[in-house]
Amino acid sequence: MISERINQIGVSPTLKISAKAKAMKAQGIDVVDLSAGEPDFSTPDNIKQAGKQAIDEDFTKYTENEGIPDLKKAIINRLNEDHGLSYDPEEIIISSGAKNSLYHLVMALINESEEVIIPAPYWVTYPQVVTLAKGKPLIIPTKEENGFLLTADQLKSAISPATKAIILNNPSNPTGAAYQRHQLEALADIILDEDLYVFADEIYEKLVYDDFHFTSFAALGEDIKKKVIIINGVSKAYSMTGWRIGYAAGPAEIINGMAKIQSHSTSNACSISQKASLEALKGPQYEVSKMVSEFQRRRNYGLMRLQTIPDISCFKPQGAFYLFPNLSTYYEKEFEGTQIRNSFGLAYYLLKEAKLAVVAGDSFGADDYIRISYAASMEDLEKGMDRIIQALSQLKTTKKVRRVALNNTITKVKKSVPTEADINLKMRDALVAEMETHLSFENYFEWNANINGVLVQLRTNISHLYDFWVENWYPAQLEAELEPHGIIYAVDGIAGREPRAFYNSETKTGILVNTDNYGPCRSLALNLVMDVSERLFNVHAIRGMTEDIEGNGLILIGPPGTKKTELFFFLLQDKKFSLHSNDIVFVRFSGGLPLADCAERKLYLPTNTVESYHRLSKLFDNSKCENVITRKEDCQDEDCLRQDDCRLDRGSPYCYKASKGAYTMLDPYWIEGPAKHTKRTALRWIFILRYDSVSPPVVKVEIEDALRILESGQSLGVSRSLTPSKNQPFFNPHLFLSTPERMELQRKFFQRLLENTSCYLFNSGVASADRIKEIVLSEAKTK
Ligand code: PMP
Repeated sequence: MISERINQIGVSPTLKISAKAKAMKAQGIDVVDLSAGEPDFSTPDNIKQAGKQAIDEDFTKYTENEGIPDLKKAIINRLNEDHGLSYDPEEIIISSGAKNSLYHLVMALINESEEVIIPAPYWVTYPQVVTLAKGKPLIIPTKEENGFLLTADQLKSAISPATKAIILNNPSNPTGAAYQRHQLEALADIILDEDLYVFADEIYEKLVYDDFHFTSFAALGEDIKKKVIIINGVSKAYSMTGWRIGYAAGPAEIINGMAKIQSHSTSNACSISQKASLEALKGPQYEVSKMVSEFQRRRNYGLMRLQTIPDISCFKPQGAFYLFPNLSTYYEKEFEGTQIRNSFGLAYYLLKEAKLAVVAGDSFGADDYIRISYAASMEDLEKGMDRIIQALSQLKTTKKVRRVALNNTITKVKKSVPTEADINLKMRDALVAEMETHLSFENYFEWNANINGVLVQLRTNISHLYDFWVENWYPAQLEAELEPHGIIYAVDGIAGREPRAFYNSETKTGILVNTDNYGPCRSLALNLVMDVSERLFNVHAIRGMTEDIEGNGLILIGPPGTKKTELFFFLLQDKKFSLHSNDIVFVRFSGGLPLADCAERKLYLPTNTVESYHRLSKLFDNSKCENVITRKEDCQDEDCLRQDDCRLDRGSPYCYKASKGAYTMLDPYWIEGPAKHTKRTALRWIFILRYDSVSPPVVKVEIEDALRILESGQSLGVSRSLTPSKNQPFFNPHLFLSTPERMELQRKFFQRLLENTSCYLFNSGVASADRIKEIVLSEAKTK
C-alpha cells in the first residue's frame, strides 16, 4: 500500500495536461499546447556550448554536494549586481531545479502541523510540498481587483502562533502579478515583528514588462534578509527548463539543513548543467532581453484577443508568461448536452473540442480562471486564441436540466470498525446501560427485522441506519409480545469513545458505538443471525454471489480482487440465469438438497458495481445511497484521478465509481425485472475464485481440498487479495466469532454442502465467465 503521505497529494496538474497534449500530438492530433510553463526558445548557443565543453573536458562526475564553487560565485555576483545583496558561499545551494530547492527548503524547515501561508492563486506545487512535509498549507485568496497581491491586512490576520513561513511568488505563476517595492515593504513590516520565514520564489524575476522594476524580498534590508530564503534558477530566464538547475540563497544554517537532505537525495545537481548555468549567469545577457521583449509582444497580443470575448475579464500581468482570464461566466453553459461546471470542465472541453491545452484554474486554487501560457510560439498563441474564442462562442446557455436529486447520506465513519466479538456478560451489561442513556426518546428509532426467520431488533439514534435497516430487511410480524432473538444497539454521539463493534453471543447482543456507516451495522446483524440460526435451526450462511439457473443454484466465493462481481454480472446477461443474492445466502438442507435463501429485501451493493454493469447507474439514481462522492476532492479512485476525463468535471453531480466505500440499497427486482430474481434456489455448483496468471483455468476439487481452501480463506495461487494478511475463514467477513466450536460447525456444514454439490476452483486471471456458463449449462441438463 502506498503511504498515507502520498495519498494526500496528486500529480502536478500542469505536467499532467502537458503529457496529455504530447500524447495527443503523438497520435497525429493537431493540438495547440498553451499549458506548458516553459519558453519555446532554444537554450542560447553560448550556454549549450558550455555544456558541450563540460562533456569534452570530462566534467561528468559527482560535484560538491551544494554545487560547484564557480557557479556559487556567479550566483553571488548576480545577486549582488542585480539587487545589491551580499551572500557567502555557505549561504548558497544549487539543486536540480528551483522546484528541488523549494522541496529541500520545506523539508528542512517545516515540522508537522506548522502552517505555511500561501496566497492564492498559487503555483501548484506549494500546497503539495507543504503537505508532503506534514505541514499545513494556509491558503489566503487574493483578489483580482487588488491585482492578485496579498495585502498587509490579509497577511496580518493570517499569522498565528502555528505559522512558520510564507511562500511569496513574485512575479506570480499563474497570474503574472508582481509586487512593487512599497507593496513588499508593507508585508516586510509585519514579518519583521513575527517569527516567520519568507520563501521568496523569484524564478520569474527577469521576465517583467513595461519597465516594471523588480525588487527582491531579501533586498528590503539586512534584518529582513535574515528571514528570507530566495528560490531562483535558470529554467525560465535562459530557457533551460530541461537542464534542471535551481538555487537557494539564505541563512547558512538553513542552507546547511537543505544540503543534508540533498546529500541523501540527489547528491548534487547535474555537473554538465552546472557548467552550462555558469555560462548563463556569467555570460552575455542580451538573449534574456530579447526573450522578454518577445514575451511582452505575445502578452499584449493574447490580452488583445481575450478582450474581444464577451463577459470575461483578464488581469494585465506585469511578469512571468501566463494570462489568467476569468471565464466563470461560461460555466453552467453547455455544448451538445455536456454541461461545463467548473474550470476543469472548461479545460476538458477546450482540449476535447478545440484541441487546445490550457490548465484549469482550480489547480492554482482559483476555479473561476484558466491559465494560458504565452511561453509557446506566436504561431501557437494565435492558433490557440482562435480556438478558444471559437470554442467559447459555441457554448450555449443551458436549458434548465432536471438534476437527479441523489438520496445520499455521507457518514462520518467510512469503513469497517474494530470489533470485539466475544465480550463477557458483565461488559455487555455495562455497555448496554451506557447505550441506553444515550437513546433519548425524542431521537430514538426501533425496528424489528426478520432476517431469514431470526428476529433482530435495532435500537439506534442514527436515522440513517434506521433508514437503511428498514430498506434492507423484511419486517417481523407486528405482535405485541414479540421477543426478538437478538438486539443491536447502534448509538452515536458518545464522547470519548472510538468507533467500535462489540458482540456478546450468550445474550445475542450486538453493540455499535459511534458508527453511522451501515456496513458494520449490517455485518453485526448477519453475525448475530448466523450465530442464532446455526445453533437453533441448523441453517448456515455462505458469503458469496449466487444465481439461479432453472432451479439450480451456483455460488461464486472468493476474496476481493478475484473479479467476482464482473463474473456475476456477466452471467446475469444470459437469459437462463437469474439473480439470487449478491453477498450472503442462508442454506438449509431439505431432503438432502441444499436450499439457499436470499434473506434481503434490498441489496446493499457497492456503487462502483456500475463498472461491471452500466445499467445500474440509473437504478442507483432512484435508490438510497451512502457515501457517494459528489466532489472531486473526495475522489479515491487513484487510476481515475490520473486521467483528465472526470465525470464530476464534465457536469455529473456525483460519481458512483469514485469510492469503494459508497453503497446503495437496491431493489433486486429492478435489476432485470421480477422474472430475473429468484428468492430460493437449490445450490448445485460452488466456484471458488482465484486470480493469477499461472494456475489452470478450471479445476474440479475434491471435498477435502475444497474444505481446506474454504476454511483457510485462501484460494491458493497468487490471489490478488487486497488484504492479503487478513484471510477470512470461509471467505466470510461477517463471521466475527471463530471459536473452535463454531469452526467445527462450519466445517460440518460445508462438508455436507460439498457432498451435495460440484466444486470448482476457478482462475479468473485466465478463464472467462463463459467457462462457468459452459459447465453449468452442460451439467444442468444432466439432472
Ligand atoms: N517556481 C515557480 C513559480 C514556477 O513556475 C516553476 C516552474 N514552473 C518553478 C518554481 C520551478 O522551476 P524549475 O524548473 O527550476 O524547477
